[in-house]
Amino acid sequence: MYKKKIKKIALLLAAFIFLTGCQASAPKAVEPQKRTNFLLGTIIEITIFEECEDAVFQKAFDRISKIEKKMTINNAQTSEIINLNANGINRPVSISEDTFQVLEKGIYYSTLSNGSFDISIGSMVKLWNIGTDQAAIPDPVEIQKILPLVNYKDIILNKSNLTAQIRQEGMIIDLGAIAKGYAADEVKRVLLENGVSSAIISLGGNILCVGEKPDGSPWRVGVQNPFDLRGEYLGIMEVKDQSVVSSGDYERYFEKDGVRYHHIIDPSTGYPCNNELTSVSIISDISIDGDGLSTTTFLMGLEKGMEFVENLEGIEAVFVTKDKNVYRTSGVKDAFTLTNKEFKIVE
Ligand code: AMP
Ligand code: MG
Repeated sequence: MYKKKIKKIALLLAAFIFLTGCQASAPKAVEPQKRTNFLLGTIIEITIFEECEDAVFQKAFDRISKIEKKMTINNAQTSEIINLNANGINRPVSISEDTFQVLEKGIYYSTLSNGSFDISIGSMVKLWNIGTDQAAIPDPVEIQKILPLVNYKDIILNKSNLTAQIRQEGMIIDLGAIAKGYAADEVKRVLLENGVSSAIISLGGNILCVGEKPDGSPWRVGVQNPFDLRGEYLGIMEVKDQSVVSSGDYERYFEKDGVRYHHIIDPSTGYPCNNELTSVSIISDISIDGDGLSTTTFLMGLEKGMEFVENLEGIEAVFVTKDKNVYRTSGVKDAFTLTNKEFKIVE
């Protein structure tokens, strides 16, 4: 009888482990498991700090791959967004729930920033070609021609039948500023559904933390030094279960005559935005918000960006200027530690 009961408990436990994919947090320290992949045009690293089946990593990467296949505007592929840009001119085309959600969020941040952030920036991004071999300063006449094609108000969404359309031929929707954040949120969901409670998701340096470190302490996320090699940090952000996403002029750029032309374009001029900032890092619960807001506040500049974030519930930010001053919003002063003495904190 007693033996039978033990067997039953063991079976139940085995079923639990199988169902969840990962063992509930063991008291002993477990070697972190890390898997890397290249998706969404960037290096994706998932590190799980519990014992876990390989299948969980696969599910996570499959989810990102599905998102990429829906949202890319890389001409070598097909996607819902490529279809919308080509065939959705004054004609509704069907899109998935995923694409709808990201478009909706993109339009939300475009509206909130009054068009500093604008997901219809794609034709201007393609004109500049930044990050490719063909990157060059375009003919100013071409820039003027493309400018009217950048206007998020010409994107129409219909939630009731999951369709989208655009009002202008030649307009290109580009979700590059928020798709990675959405993918990170979805990976987190997959990990949680599979019983993972302690993990780090990195999409090209944009970090989403799942839970806390196995010993209960916060994660220590490095904030990239915009003037140094990738992986060289200027400070450390301590977070639990939150996202830390950075945008800056150091990510993709070319230089000509001492000027840095980077990948974040000001929709009011058609040129890479040029203000006192070199980077912004956003701390938020949801990574798509961090991704949208890091690009948005970078475009807004220091003063407007700081004020903007201070007025948003649950969002914090660290702004770094070209002259190496570091500004933090009020809720993050204890969590951020400057580690590189070339920079100076401005209170
Ligand atoms: P991120 O690295 O998240 O700051 O996003 C940069 C990417 O967003 C660029 O590579 C473009 O694809 C896109 N982008 C550039 N300028 C803008 C803009 N003004 N609004 C929205 N997306 C933009
Ligand atoms: Mg972004």
